[in-house]
Amino acid sequence: MLVVQKFGGSSVRDTERLLNVARIVTDTYKQGNEVVVVVSAQGDTTDDLIAKAKELGKKNSKREMDMLMAAGEQISIALLAMAIESLGCPATSLLGWQAGFVTNSTYGAARIKRVNAERIRTELDKNRIVVVAGFQGLNRNEDVTTLGRGGSDTSAVAIAASMHADLCQIYTDVEGVYTADPRKIPNARKLSEITYGEMLELASLGAQVLNNRSVEMAQKYNVELEVLSSLNRVPGTRVMEVAKMEKMLIKGVAKDTSVGRVMVVGLPDEPGIAFKVFSLVARAHVNVDIILQSVGRDGTKDITFTVPAEDGADAVEALKDFCERMGAKDLRYDTECAKVSIVGAGMETHEGVAAKMFEALADADINIEMISTSEIKISVLIALADADRAVAAVHKAFFETND
Ligand code: ASP
Ligand code: MG
Repeated sequence: MLVVQKFGGSSVRDTERLLNVARIVTDTYKQGNEVVVVVSAQGDTTDDLIAKAKELGKKNSKREMDMLMAAGEQISIALLAMAIESLGCPATSLLGWQAGFVTNSTYGAARIKRVNAERIRTELDKNRIVVVAGFQGLNRNEDVTTLGRGGSDTSAVAIAASMHADLCQIYTDVEGVYTADPRKIPNARKLSEITYGEMLELASLGAQVLNNRSVEMAQKYNVELEVLSSLNRVPGTRVMEVAKMEKMLIKGVAKDTSVGRVMVVGLPDEPGIAFKVFSLVARAHVNVDIILQSVGRDGTKDITFTVPAEDGADAVEALKDFCERMGAKDLRYDTECAKVSIVGAGMETHEGVAAKMFEALADADINIEMISTSEIKISVLIALADADRAVAAVHKAFFETND
């Protein structure tokens, strides 16, 4: 089998952890597999590098930032290759460009165009373990690029896709994907399987196990993922097209606190207003999530919508002139809100799921301010101060009772 194994920063943070990873890798190799390992920078290395650059000013060249950030992975691949060799197995480390990662030129958020994996293949054919620097590639000017924070997951999936690997394992410091954040909800359960669609919702809803883009890529190229812990050897969670083993309707409860809410009060209640509002916001490159429009009253209506917190100011800026021209009564923005969601591929065919969620929130005396639903999720917007309590209450209703 060809196995791609990815290890995150905490899994390689010091010598002891590096040796632990080397043992997992060499065990896989000794079982007769070809192994490609993708690693992140050790511990907080990437953050530390960014902090160093900030000491020099806030507006550093993006090209140089990528050159700097890519250095973290260069350290970890060399050390891991040495750790593997210290256990008696042959290993070769490769930087992103040596491993054939070709990206576009968007420094800091580069997209992988392809992986020319000949060099990796050559090393594997020599019976060597290949250790590849995650998170980095080369653009067409032959400059180093990075893929965005947490990008090593995507590096691993890209190699697995282009080399048609049999398995892509993402090792981290939790044992898999849980029904809620296990650090906050002690009764959270580990899922044995989850679909790409569910995982994407959970990832974008703030579950923080896998990088979003890596899941999208895995789905596109049908790469089966396994999320598991590098610290204890127990089965993790498989991410795949169709999850069958679990009969659970709801797979998880997630919370996202990095949302903001824009409120436009007193717009004329006439055709074309919503169109205008959301075109202006789109033109400012702001993604809108939940939308609520009030019923018209006395010829006016209100439009409220949520955006990623960091884009709030841009959204308001984009609407200012328009609101003035239309005689809107108010344009408000606040970030005192949180989005809590339940995710599960089977819920559209089951009645009562939404009611159960809302009942749990009502019993906890938590007010729902906005609601949105899709085939596989139900999200509510609530006050930020209620977020943790809301997750606990909803989790309890779906996972900690016997009916
Ligand atoms: N080292 C990079 C980061 O900290 C990439 C990664 O960890 O996946 O974001
Ligand atoms: Mg990571």
